[in-house]
Amino acid sequence: MGDKKISRRDVCRGLLSFGGIALAAGAVKAQDTRATQPVVEAVLEDQRVIDAVKRGATMEEMAQLREPIAKSPQEAIRALKSGNSRFFSGTARRPELSAAERRSQILAQTPFAVVLSCSDSRVPTEIVFDQGLGNLFITRVAGNVIDTGTLGSIEYGIGHLKSHVVVVLGHEGCGAVKAALLPPEERARETQSIQALLNSIVPAVSKIPKIRDEKAKMREAVISNVRLQVQNLKKNKFVQDAITSGKIAVIGAYYEITSGAVDFFETDEDLRIATTSGGDFSRWRGHLA
Ligand SMILES: [Zn+2]
Repeated sequence: MGDKKISRRDVCRGLLSFGGIALAAGAVKAQDTRATQPVVEAVLEDQRVIDAVKRGATMEEMAQLREPIAKSPQEAIRALKSGNSRFFSGTARRPELSAAERRSQILAQTPFAVVLSCSDSRVPTEIVFDQGLGNLFITRVAGNVIDTGTLGSIEYGIGHLKSHVVVVLGHEGCGAVKAALLPPEERARETQSIQALLNSIVPAVSKIPKIRDEKAKMREAVISNVRLQVQNLKKNKFVQDAITSGKIAVIGAYYEITSGAVDFFETDEDLRIATTSGGDFSRWRGHLA
């Protein structure tokens, strides 16, 4: 190839030969349409993809082109922190794959992290961590609780997809945690399924310190629930073995909707569940500071 410059017309031709007809058509149109310009620029950015497309690479070859984002638990945590920093600071890359790369994903998935997060519409996990297609294996349920479904999904991510970290992600203003704080007679008005879900959270919020400030109380309750769900997860033998062998780390995190920042809880001390009601306030970690 040397330093031969590739024109946009070449890229379009290459994509057509690969079968990316729809994108190629869009790219041709992009030559005189500012709105679709980023699509073409994104394709041009990855020289290796362009080269592969030009030589008519197979989907298997295309799948091999992607460098793994993380090869260890620590690298995976670092990638999540970097992604959230980009999101938080307004410099998110919002990574999208080229048509050829996207098509090659049908062969396999290699997400570097598993995330158990809340169903809340304000907590879109890929956006919060600025991650693209195929990077995160996510299971979402109101209150981010461990149950048979979420546990099975997490085990699949660890055992079959070889992810390097499991994150239990709570968030500011969680409605499920707020409902778990209600008196039993009020919770009893909910449907049986909702009550069952709330019952998974109640043990976490029933022991939090007495805090007058409502916002601080909610934060403590959410983080207490994150700690409980991490603990529940770590009781699982399969998960325990994966931690012991160094394959994965299991951590907690708290997403602050108002700022966009995620606090990470990684150490045993961070994840320790309060056993008394004597002002065991969380230590806030500031990776963004
Ligand atoms: Zn929630």
